[in-house]
Amino acid sequence: MKKEMVCIVCPMSCHLSVEIEKKKVKSVVGNTCPRGAKYASEELTNPTRMVTSTVFLKNAELNRLPVVTSAPIPKQKIKDVMKQINKVKVKAPVKRNDVIIENVSRTGVNIIASRSFESIK
Ligand code: SF4
Repeated sequence: MKKEMVCIVCPMSCHLSVEIEKKKVKSVVGNTCPRGAKYASEELTNPTRMVTSTVFLKNAELNRLPVVTSAPIPKQKIKDVMKQINKVKVKAPVKRNDVIIENVSRTGVNIIASRSFESIK
C-alpha cells in the first residue's frame, strides 16, 4: 500500500510517498533529509504533536497565560489534554517553564508556562 503525505518537520514541506507493508514502513521517497523518513514512520505508527494553548490567569496584566506541552504527546490524547488545560486557573506570579499541569492525561508530559508574569498586587 502506498500513502502520500507532507512532512511537517520543517518549512520545506516535502511531499513524501510512503510504501507500507504489513503495517510497517518499507520505504520513503521524496524526503530531502533523513528527518522526513523518521517523521513518516512515526506518523504512521505513533503520531505525536506539541500542544500550545492558554489558561486563565489571575492577578497579572493579562488574563491568559500561554502554555505548551514539555514534549510531544500522542495525537489521540490531544482532546483530553485540552479538557485538562481548559479547567486550569493560575495566579501570578508565574515563571516561564513553571509546571502548570504535571503528567497531563497520564502522558508523562507536563504542561508548562511559555512566559513569565509578575503579580500586579
Ligand atoms: S524531509 Fe527534511 S527537508 Fe523535507 S520537510 Fe522534512 S525535515 Fe524538512
